[in-house]
Amino acid sequence: MQIDIITEKEIAELRTLISDANKIILVGHKSPDGDAIGACLGLAEYLRQQGKSPSVFVPDAYPDFLKWLPGTEKIVRYDKHKVEIDAAFKNADLIFILDFNDAARLEDMQASVDMSSAKKVVVDHHLNPVINSVITISRSEACSTCELVFRMIYQLSGMENMTRKIAVPLYCGMMTDTGGFTYNSARPEIYSIIGLLLTVGIDKDKIYRNVFNNYSPWAIKFRGYLMSQKLNIFEQYHASYFTVSKEDMKKYHFIKGDLEGLVNEPLRIKGHKFSISLREDDRHDNTILVSLRSVDDFPCNKVSEEFFNGGGHLNASGGKLHCSLAEAETIARNAIIKFGDMLKA
Ligand code: 5GP
Repeated sequence: MQIDIITEKEIAELRTLISDANKIILVGHKSPDGDAIGACLGLAEYLRQQGKSPSVFVPDAYPDFLKWLPGTEKIVRYDKHKVEIDAAFKNADLIFILDFNDAARLEDMQASVDMSSAKKVVVDHHLNPVINSVITISRSEACSTCELVFRMIYQLSGMENMTRKIAVPLYCGMMTDTGGFTYNSARPEIYSIIGLLLTVGIDKDKIYRNVFNNYSPWAIKFRGYLMSQKLNIFEQYHASYFTVSKEDMKKYHFIKGDLEGLVNEPLRIKGHKFSISLREDDRHDNTILVSLRSVDDFPCNKVSEEFFNGGGHLNASGGKLHCSLAEAETIARNAIIKFGDMLKA
């Protein structure tokens, strides 16, 4: 299997950077998902094995269904510990930027990272990174940042130091970023890596259950309500959108993670190509969080760039609108119509 992703020279540089650094920080993006959290936790554990004491900082909350992962109790949130984190960035020697290509995805935490004089290493699978770094491991073909972190660790130390505590979060990130290996997961290397992770004793079925079968009764009812009452299907376009209002979120006792992956649900309709989720931000007025998913070669990143101030991957993108939910619905309808020729085909 071809595991190597960086040159021998870069590996040597990385070894030196790690061994010379006293204060190492690992950073994930805003609204961190399974891949960002998995990459941070897996790499942090590896660095601890190397005698380091890394810190893990994220801008804000991560979903409840990741809280079982070992090490999450050590993650520090910027929205809760701003002063402490700002000071840590000032004193840092080395920062690992994990699972994002643009510091803007840190929102309020961006300035603190930008101003830090620490050396930066980017490990990410989004297109076109624009972060100043001494080493950039950017592979948009990778299924996840966790895949890249695995390959980096493998190049640094082989399987010798690959413990279950590293393997579990890395597998979790690979699994969540591919919807349980149902999309963006056809490269044979992925399964060779999973084979290696299994050799250190991960329980992949339990990881699946911990993440995907972890809903509260409220969440299950909320998801059913949204699919039955709020889904607008455009059959001729093989596309749909659904809306989530603050009022409904309150009614169904919404907590972060309850609607994770729901945007994939309409793609289960036979022949469906494109699904949009429009959710009111429960913390900011007039803000709509947008998620887009597609199949085959329909580019939801292009739709997001053109209509939703965002971007992402071909089949999984996100964005944000500053308008009412009703106005967002109009934009979603216009987007579907504009890309109608591709969708109808
Ligand atoms: P989600 O729907 O899970 O929020 O986002 C899906 C994917 O779209 C994420 O993995 C991320 O790569 C990308 N994404 C989400 N929001 C944005 C955004 O505002 N800008 C860009 N460029 N990509 C985004």
